[in-house]
Amino acid sequence: MPICFDLDGTLGHFSSGFVLLREALGDLWGGTPTVEELGRCTGSTDWEIVDDLHRQRFGRPLDEVGYQAYEAACVARFRTAFCPGGQAPVAFRGILAGLHLLAVTRPVWVVSGNAPGLLAFKAEVLGIDPAIPRLGSLPRHSRTSLIQLSLRGCPGPHLYIGDRPHDLAAAQAAGLPFLAIGPAVPGQHPSLDPEVEAQELVDTVESILGAERQN
Ligand SMILES: [Mg+2]
Repeated sequence: MPICFDLDGTLGHFSSGFVLLREALGDLWGGTPTVEELGRCTGSTDWEIVDDLHRQRFGRPLDEVGYQAYEAACVARFRTAFCPGGQAPVAFRGILAGLHLLAVTRPVWVVSGNAPGLLAFKAEVLGIDPAIPRLGSLPRHSRTSLIQLSLRGCPGPHLYIGDRPHDLAAAQAAGLPFLAIGPAVPGQHPSLDPEVEAQELVDTVESILGAERQN
């Protein structure tokens, strides 16, 4: 019964993320994608977004080599920006502590739209236990299919925890219940404030899973 957490906006945030993504692509592609180009992207994972921007710029899909180049450039940008003495991310301490409490008794994953190398860097900076598995954005995978990958071979009930409407949509498409962090996801589902204490997260998750078992 994996409990899957999104990262950005759910466990904390790295506020300049899209600026660094655009700068990294600008170095690689000889021109920074515009905010308008970014706004036309419909996906929520790095693969989907960079593939969409690549099609807009070059008229053809992204390939694995191009994605790896993006990932390396983006990780380098983040390592420079979020070094000791530089920018610091906002960490949702109670949510992170709750994630680690939950991981004591059940499978917990971080399933994020970040490219795998970027997810590894962000998870390290946020102090997430390296033993907690993480799954980043893979070529030709949507957020829904990433969630489904993390569930393979595991009995339910499962849960996806995220902060954006695309997280809710992915949870619904994968057939999972959803817990929102913050106010940005309209609809009827449980939600918690990002500043919540760890035990409230644990209690809320247990309540959702208990209700799922009775369904
Ligand atoms: Mg998010």
